[in-house]
Amino acid sequence: MTAKVFFLSVKDGLAVEEQAIAIKELIEKSGILKISNNDFVAIKIHVGEKKNTTHIKPELIREIVSKVKEQGGQPFLTETSTLYKGERENAVKHLMHAHRHGFTIENVGAPFIMADGLTGNSEYEVKIDGQLHETVKVAREVMTADALIAVSHPTGHIAAGLGACIKNLGMGLASRMGKMRQHSAMLPEVLSDKCRICQKCVKWCPQEAIIEKDGKAYIMAEKCIGCGECLAVCRFDAVSYDWGAESGYMQRSMAEHAYGSIKDKKDKCVFINVLINMTKDCDCFSVKQEKMIEDIGILASQDPVAVDMATLDLTAKAHGHNLAEMAYKHHDAMIQIDHAAEIGMGSKQYELVEV
Ligand code: SF4
Ligand code: SF4
Repeated sequence: MTAKVFFLSVKDGLAVEEQAIAIKELIEKSGILKISNNDFVAIKIHVGEKKNTTHIKPELIREIVSKVKEQGGQPFLTETSTLYKGERENAVKHLMHAHRHGFTIENVGAPFIMADGLTGNSEYEVKIDGQLHETVKVAREVMTADALIAVSHPTGHIAAGLGACIKNLGMGLASRMGKMRQHSAMLPEVLSDKCRICQKCVKWCPQEAIIEKDGKAYIMAEKCIGCGECLAVCRFDAVSYDWGAESGYMQRSMAEHAYGSIKDKKDKCVFINVLINMTKDCDCFSVKQEKMIEDIGILASQDPVAVDMATLDLTAKAHGHNLAEMAYKHHDAMIQIDHAAEIGMGSKQYELVEV
């Protein structure tokens, strides 16, 4: 089946106010939003970690909220807690942080309701009969909502190659248990000949899973959740992953969790990818990042697979290599897209409709 992906191109470096006008125009011209009266509409966003400045801004989300209200829906912003320590590790910190980044009722016009409860364990087990999982654990309030709008900011991703719609749904809407399941195969190892015992990874590990042993850092497998923080912070290339096997498993598991989050409301979902300020790493990194490539535009579709496929194609068309290849060429980001298509989540074939 060929899916429709609506596309509004933008000039590079557009001001936030103009980005907001663009998203409004895309929704109006595509007619993609179909909300029934009184529907609870979950708008999945990512507010960006502490020092991140390239996440999607509240001004754009306000336009989506306003369109949902026009159609009689009851919109709320939603997210889940992270596995790693940071500003978004539980509902209290996450909401305080979201407010600091401007995602307030006053600014956006809708409340922020954490989908997975106070500490990430409010969940619902969804039967998917996937290739890896028979059931997946999805954040509870996503399942309670009647409709879902996932607003994703495509970036490269240290473990999955690409962080876009499938990642936003799969990891971003899984409960804590669901997230751990996706990371379960990603266990890093410290190479003794490279480790300088600088202790940086010890300090950053959210699980206190790293100790000093036999003159090098040592990862305790029983405590490690495979979040990849140690790999990201080590300046001596001393932390290694078996990227091929592990990333592949994670991407497939992520696609199956993504499927679980939308399976029961497939006709009531809209997926928006904002191809602006695309960076090498995702918005979970608490650092200021420079964009890797020029801004392209905004995509909207009712098919989460097609919208990510179009994201890769458009970045490849504009820059020779697609976003994932430019960010982490040792990963094959098509694994998540192929797997999502195989389990019936959507289609890689699409028609790009310029609005
Ligand atoms: S050892 Fe590394 S991958 Fe494991 S939990 Fe700690 S930081 Fe994350
Ligand atoms: S950050 Fe790298 S060099 Fe430093 S202790 Fe950890 S593994 Fe060793």
